[in-house]
Amino acid sequence: MSESFGFQAEISQLLDLIINTFYSNKEIFLRELISNCSDALDKIRYASLTDPSALENEKELYIRIVPDKENHILSIRDTGIGMTKADLVNNLGTIAKSGTKGFMEALNSGADISMIGQFGVGFYSAYLVAERVQVVSKHNDDEQYIWESAAGGTFTITPDTVNPPLGRGTELRLFLKEDQYEYLEEKKIKEIVKKHSEFISYPIQLAVTKEVEKARSQEVEDDEEEMKDDSEAKIEEVEDDEEKKDKKKKKIKEKEVTNEELNKTKPLWTRNPSDITPEEYGAFYKSLTNDWEEHLAVKHFSVEGQLEFKAILFIPKRAPFDLFESKKKRNNIKLYVRRVFIMDDCEDLIPEYLNFVKGIVDSEDLPLNISRETLQQNKILKVIRKNIVKKCMDLFTEIAEDKDNFNKFYESFGKNMKLGIHEDAQNRSKLAEFLRFFSTKSQEEQTSIKDYITRMPEVQKNIYYLTGESLSSVKDSPFLEVLKKKGFEVLLLVDPIDEYAVTQLKEFDGKKLICVSKEGLELEETEEEKKAREEEATQFEDLCKTVKDALGDKVEKVVVSNRISDSPCVLVTGQFGWSSNMERIMKAQALRDSSMSSYMASKKTLELNPHNAIVKELKKKVAEDKADKSVRDLTYLLFETALLTSGFSLDDPTSFAKRIHRMISLGLDVDDEEEDAAPAASSSDDLPPPLEGGSTSAMEEID
Ligand code: ADP
Ligand code: MG
Repeated sequence: MSESFGFQAEISQLLDLIINTFYSNKEIFLRELISNCSDALDKIRYASLTDPSALENEKELYIRIVPDKENHILSIRDTGIGMTKADLVNNLGTIAKSGTKGFMEALNSGADISMIGQFGVGFYSAYLVAERVQVVSKHNDDEQYIWESAAGGTFTITPDTVNPPLGRGTELRLFLKEDQYEYLEEKKIKEIVKKHSEFISYPIQLAVTKEVEKARSQEVEDDEEEMKDDSEAKIEEVEDDEEKKDKKKKKIKEKEVTNEELNKTKPLWTRNPSDITPEEYGAFYKSLTNDWEEHLAVKHFSVEGQLEFKAILFIPKRAPFDLFESKKKRNNIKLYVRRVFIMDDCEDLIPEYLNFVKGIVDSEDLPLNISRETLQQNKILKVIRKNIVKKCMDLFTEIAEDKDNFNKFYESFGKNMKLGIHEDAQNRSKLAEFLRFFSTKSQEEQTSIKDYITRMPEVQKNIYYLTGESLSSVKDSPFLEVLKKKGFEVLLLVDPIDEYAVTQLKEFDGKKLICVSKEGLELEETEEEKKAREEEATQFEDLCKTVKDALGDKVEKVVVSNRISDSPCVLVTGQFGWSSNMERIMKAQALRDSSMSSYMASKKTLELNPHNAIVKELKKKVAEDKADKSVRDLTYLLFETALLTSGFSLDDPTSFAKRIHRMISLGLDVDDEEEDAAPAASSSDDLPPPLEGGSTSAMEEID
């Protein structure tokens, strides 16, 4: 009758790991199993909102823990949704979640076993304490089945003909390992439930056995059968001193089992915030999220008036391992209606960029039988969402008051702030306050834009930034030369997402955000500076034209620069096209639409520095003889090095390298003939293309 199945390979590995790793904090298995019971109860309760008959097989919703000391079995049952045969096969062994591997990797890099719940494989923690596990389950749509496994790679499924019918739900039976019998002790169980599962919103009952003494009158004596169903009795004869002469009275010790509720606390959010201790919030957060650490910040509030709801929002200390794994639906904010749990993945309660905020919302106004579909259009929900977002902003502001806390927060969720800037136009300027960037004046720690503004010299009107791949690749960029000289700070944006965020942001506090590697940079300059620049433009007109002719359509324009003071030249991009950094990001995205890239790809303008010796010399040369062949070679070298320093990549690195090698040969006085005489000498085809006028004449000029 039993069918055998093999565990999926990763799950098998995980089980081995759980069984063989030395780990002392085993008690967390109970938290995990109770959390599964609670999830299953949530599911049946939700189903019953639209179909009350779903509860027919078992009306009461509860979790019950029964320790069986004689047989060393700890049983945990719930009256939740239960599992069909197919559910048992799929959910408990044959289909691995991404977290299976994720958890093992995390363990290898030092994570703690108690983190198991976060990875969605909490069920297997049963094997921390049990050598064998049975899962008896009854779903409304199927018969009752027994899943059983002692690990070792396989499990069995058997139609249940031996156990009493569950009605509906699941009973886990843990056959405890010999050294784990302490989990059968009432005291121990109570302690763990209190510690980890106090805020579960269904009653958690513990079957407690008491010996009760009962005086028995003569009449019942003969009627021994009348004892309670699940009780055993021990009859003792007791001599009653005072009444010894009268008659012998019989006293009886009975074992009576009662179900004691372990979590009688009211839902935390219904209580007054001033009566709740930080520890209680911490415990509530942990039971809500399966997190092993306490939260970073919490906000507990209620909204009254036309619309009424209570909510608690938590910010975790760190991002989950799969925060940006887009397909995964998350449990973010649990939605309750008048204390009844409705759902835990209501997308419309909070925008996606805030998907790291956890908590609960309990509405007084929504209808109980609300469905996913009608939720989307629901006006009440829209108002709740708006309020939640606003409270999140308040919460971030509070975190920002403490620098260390905020750094922690930003490290984990800075990307979300940037996504928010991109997605949430309404809160864009508020979110911008939470951004932190490195800058030319702040390379050890990141600065806020607000602080940046306080450091602006009076003449500076705009906020300047440069984007790039890494701090080291941008911190000495030629684009910063003049700005540094003028004492203008430049924000250095080195996270790929910065580029997206900053183009949406456009301004902060009335000041424009200006990219210093784009065309049309109008630096605040004095009349004198302006006049000087205009003069230079006329003086260098000829050179610009010659350089443009040499480079052809590799560049759009060649102009005199106002942003460099040391380097000979830079390449700037169009105001509305991609920056060099964006071009790099887009090139790295394999499946992008290539038509878009030809449209957006940077139209480059070459800017020459009129004060640079090389440029001055080149100008002289052009004035002497426009047709000088070496001008073209030098121009190419300048252009290609500018590509590199401006953050682009070379289309043809080999020919660039050859030009450089040629120069090195000249520098070392390597004889052309000597080179030619070498056995593996290359033919003249290998010479870089623009060296038309004979290599020596071209390069000697540089020496
Ligand atoms: P998670 O709870 O994160 O999904 P678990 O490893 O704890 O991961 O549980 C795996 C799955 O097994 C659950 O998603 C659920 O489908 C099923 N399951 C476990 N326990 C129960 C239960 N008591 N009742 C119904 N289904 C359960
Ligand atoms: Mg679980």
